[in-house]
Amino acid sequence: MTPVRTGSDSDWVLADGKLTALSLLFKMIGKSIETTLDNAERLNGELNSFLSIERDHAVERAKQLDSLDDELTLKGYAIAIKDNICTKGLRTSCGSRILQNYRAHYDATAVERLNAAGAIMIGKTNMDEFAMGSSNESSAFGPAKNPWDTSRVPGGSSGGSAVAVASGVVRAALGSETGGSVRQPASLCGIYGLKPTYGRISRYGLVAFASSLDNIAIFGREASDIAKVLSVIAGRDTRDSTSADVPVPDYTANLGSDIAGRKIGVPRALFGEGLDDEVRLKVETAIENYREMGAEIVDVELPYAKYGIAVYYIIATAEASSNLARYDGVRYGFRAEDTDALRKMYFKTREEGFGAEVKRRIMLGTYVLSSGYYDAYYAKAQKVRALVKKDYQKAFESCDAILTPTSPSVAFRIGEKSDDPLAMYLNDVYTVSANLAGIPGISVPCGLSQEGLPIGFQLVGNFWSEAGLLNLAARYGGQFPLGAKPSLFAD
Ligand code: GLN
Repeated sequence: MTPVRTGSDSDWVLADGKLTALSLLFKMIGKSIETTLDNAERLNGELNSFLSIERDHAVERAKQLDSLDDELTLKGYAIAIKDNICTKGLRTSCGSRILQNYRAHYDATAVERLNAAGAIMIGKTNMDEFAMGSSNESSAFGPAKNPWDTSRVPGGSSGGSAVAVASGVVRAALGSETGGSVRQPASLCGIYGLKPTYGRISRYGLVAFASSLDNIAIFGREASDIAKVLSVIAGRDTRDSTSADVPVPDYTANLGSDIAGRKIGVPRALFGEGLDDEVRLKVETAIENYREMGAEIVDVELPYAKYGIAVYYIIATAEASSNLARYDGVRYGFRAEDTDALRKMYFKTREEGFGAEVKRRIMLGTYVLSSGYYDAYYAKAQKVRALVKKDYQKAFESCDAILTPTSPSVAFRIGEKSDDPLAMYLNDVYTVSANLAGIPGISVPCGLSQEGLPIGFQLVGNFWSEAGLLNLAARYGGQFPLGAKPSLFAD
């Protein structure tokens, strides 16, 4: 029997007036989805974390779920999705004017799998334009704000997704990582953020920035939220030839298991220059906490890590300059007006459609790929990338995971670094190497600064070690929960 709507929005009964277990379940999902949407809308005025809140879509999905299998693992689970991940029929702007009114024609594989598992997508989140940035300030639609202190950035580029989770609107959200765009905002917002192994989650439907580095990645209020979502979306997809045919375990199965004897490597040389004292102190405490929990702490060396930023900003910009060539005003997206010749139309469209940071990256990338400079920059960067990867392989001979800070500082003020690209790029000093190597990493909250701003550490592991990383993160959170909520929190 089909449920019918009676009275208020979330008041559902069967046509004959009797509530069954199924319609009761819908009543719960329906109600909570309405509350979730209300929270998202209420907080968005201050936080700007959503570029679109899809109320009709979410309510419709909740209705459909009523007739679906109760065993669905994520039934009724509200989720937010970064606006560079395609959602069929819904706006997918990449935080850019050039795609401002673009509606995707298909769902990304990750979205398709979330839907099939019963999750409800409530909206698309704010981001640095085309995922280029570490603060959310390069969004064409204004920055998302940090819910702990709205005068500060939430980090980036997946800032909106981080804020949606940190502010209590949803328990989990999808972001993307090319060089740290989930781990860094997770750290700055006091939540968990996992970048999986390259190839673990299909990139089909993730708008390309730098294809050899891009990943879909996951934010969670707890490590267990990430484990739930990863178990659903990971795995081989024939539509992404770089997705790997590696079995997907149930990542929730061993969460909370003993970590005694696990070896955690610490590259002390990376704890020096450029690292804020408060961050160093909290991360050192986290290392001691792990020791108390039974882990063995060992010294490791990553001698090529110091070249990570230089290598990343050559390879990422090179790939971006090629990937973004498709935005020409012809096939989709924004087209400049008043142009009487094709070349002029191309120029004007890209001039008006892209923001400053994206243009800077396209120019840098075009330069490092140009004949005469290719060998000096791009080819050399590829060689050093191989050395960065080798460093990790060697380090993992003596440990299970490597612990460093996630970000060298707490959340900075909006505007503080926006005129200094180099200062902005240096934010990624701890995160880019894992992307260059293709290995997984997770950011874990570990305390607040004196000003009450979150601090996080990251654990990086060998290929396909997500289950181990999630367990280390969950154990830490179980023993040393952050225990504080941001000033803007939904429930
Ligand atoms: N902050 C880095 C950049 O600006 C990383 C971005 C990302 O991971 N998408 O490129």
